[in-house]
Parts: sequence; structure tokens; C-alpha cells
Amino acid sequence: MIVDGFNRKHDYLRISLTDNCNLRCFYCMPEEEYAFTPTSKLMQVDEIESIAKIFVSQGVKKIRLTGGEPLVRKDAAEIIMRLSKLPIKLTLTTNATRLHEFIDVINDAGINSINISLDTLQKDRFLLMTKRDQYERVMSNIELMIENNIHVKVNAVVMKGLNDIEINDFIEWTRLKPIHVRFIEFMPFDGNKWNRDRVVTWQEILEVAKNKFDIIPLDREQHDTAKKYQATGHIGTFAVISTMSAPFCGDCNRMRLTADGKMKNCLFSTSETDLLTPFRNSEDIIPMIYQSIRDKKEALGGQFTTDLEKIEISKLENRSMITIGG
Ligand code: SAM
Ligand code: SF4
Repeated sequence: MIVDGFNRKHDYLRISLTDNCNLRCFYCMPEEEYAFTPTSKLMQVDEIESIAKIFVSQGVKKIRLTGGEPLVRKDAAEIIMRLSKLPIKLTLTTNATRLHEFIDVINDAGINSINISLDTLQKDRFLLMTKRDQYERVMSNIELMIENNIHVKVNAVVMKGLNDIEINDFIEWTRLKPIHVRFIEFMPFDGNKWNRDRVVTWQEILEVAKNKFDIIPLDREQHDTAKKYQATGHIGTFAVISTMSAPFCGDCNRMRLTADGKMKNCLFSTSETDLLTPFRNSEDIIPMIYQSIRDKKEALGGQFTTDLEKIEISKLENRSMITIGG
């Protein structure tokens, strides 16, 4: 079992398959000309499988594939099928633009829950936020997942003056749809133009929701990163991922592997541990995994606190979100 200095057991691994993406969400992908990592530097299928098996041998029980957009990788189907053979719960975070091409693979792999990113229910705003005209495709693929009895969690990053006027539209959507909408507080990463004035906090989101709906808080499960709620009479539910105003670091069980094989012990960690190079040199990477987790900071990578006024974006050290893997 991989345990850190604060007695947190780490049994959940997020693997980024690529830093490439077919959308251009400005809060995730740096605006300047961005060069995607060349394929030779990415973990290859066999390497992903072998490194995943090493983590599983040390107690990992859940693996999430992410990116970039995991489904733009040509060998994504093979990776999903290989990892589905491991004794873990396998899941995926995707922008949903290609899910229709993967429905058989998802069913064959036994994936029964998927996180889908969608920040707006308006076609024009989707184009504005992602710079790609894929709104209808995403909506039809959400329907496709529901028809296939796959639980859909919709991730929506809420930003002031951009899509915060849609908070109650998203909650209204849960009235008849068996979906779980998760509002995410806007987080700072390299090159993403973060500004504290654009953050809509958990408390603010709830205030907006309470103005229109009768809200019931739902029980929190261990390791949940979201505060969950349901509007009375609705089939679906919603939640807030309050990383900025009320983080869930206390029982964090997550580790991350970037597409180029670097381990990050926290989304906001300043350091990373190269596992791919030593793995390619046939070195034992297990001690490196344990050392990385021993170095994990108590909260938010040790970089900031919930006092948003004190965050100096220029002093934060991190990759951009697209190169970490959300
Ligand atoms: N391409 C996939 C997708 O969009 O779902 C997977 C990768 S994406 C980096 C994973 C999640 O990170 C998405 O839900 C996205 O909205 C979220 N994300 C990216 N940048 C963020 C930011 N600055 N603040 C909060 N969430 C962010
Ligand atoms: Fe691509 Fe997902 Fe980042 Fe948007 S949030 S740019 S879909 S990786």
C-alpha cells in the first residue's frame, strides 16, 4: 500500500494518454502556439500496461484515463482493453467528441461510469469556449452513454461573466436526466489566464442554486472530491468540486502519471518523478513511486491556500492542465 507522510493511502491512479486534444478550452490549453509531445516521448501501449500493473501490485484499485483528450490517441481502444483486464475499476474523463466511435470498446471493457466535460448548454458559447463546433456531437454522445446505461458525470468549469449564468440551467437539466453535474471551481495552471475574480466559489454556486431550487445535501463518500446535492424531485444530482475554496486534500488518494511518464503526487505539485526513463532502462520504479508519495505535501501541493487574494499566479509552478491530465 502506498502511504504518504500524512497517513493517506493512495490507491487511485490517473493516467494521461496524451497532451493532444481536438478542442481548445482556453482555461486548459495555453494560448500561445502549443507543441504536442512527440509520440516517441509518450508512454507506449506496453509501457502503460506494465507501469499500470506495477501500480496495481502496490494496491491501486482504480485507474482513470485522461489527457489531453484520451480518445484522440490512435491506440486508445487497445489501451482501454488491456487495462480492463486488470483487477481495477477502470474509467475515463473525456470531452465526448469521439465517444460514439468507442461505445463497443467501452461496453466490452466493462466501463460503467464516464466523466464528460461540458461547460455550457449553449451552442454558441461552446464554440467560444472550445473554439470547435462540436456541441451537438457532445450532446448526442451524452445521450448515447445514457442509452447504454453508462453513468454520466458532467464536469463544468464555472467562470464569472462567462458561463455562471447557466448554473441553474445545468441543474434544471438534472430534472429528467439521470446525470450527475459537477461544477468545478476555476483552477490556476501555467498559461491559463487564471484570475481570482473569475472564480465562482462553491458557496456562490449554492446561493444561485438555492434561489431557484429546493436543495438537499447528499452523503459524502470517502475520497469524494465533490460536495453533492440534489434538487427536490429531480432524477439527476449535482455537486461542486471546491478545490479552490474548500479542498479535499485531507483524504486524497490520487496519484497522476503524465503522458510522458512523469509521476505527480498532486495536481499542484511543483516536482515530478520521471518513471518512464528508468522503466525503459529496466530499473525498479517501485522505490521511486514510494519516494514521490513520501514527498507529497499536506495540501494543494504546498503552493497556495484557500485565501484566493493571496494567490500570486506568477509565482505558481506547474505544467498547464493539458500536460498534467485532469
Ligand atoms: N479532455 C478531457 C476532458 O476535457 O474531459 C480530459 C482532460 S481535461 C484536462 C479534464 C478536466 O479538467 C476537464 O473536466 C476540464 O474541464 C478540467 N479542467 C481543465 N482545466 C481546468 C481549470 N483550469 N480549472 C478547473 N478544471 C479544469
Ligand atoms: Fe481538451 Fe479537455 Fe483541455 Fe478542453 S479541457 S482543451 S477538451 S483536454
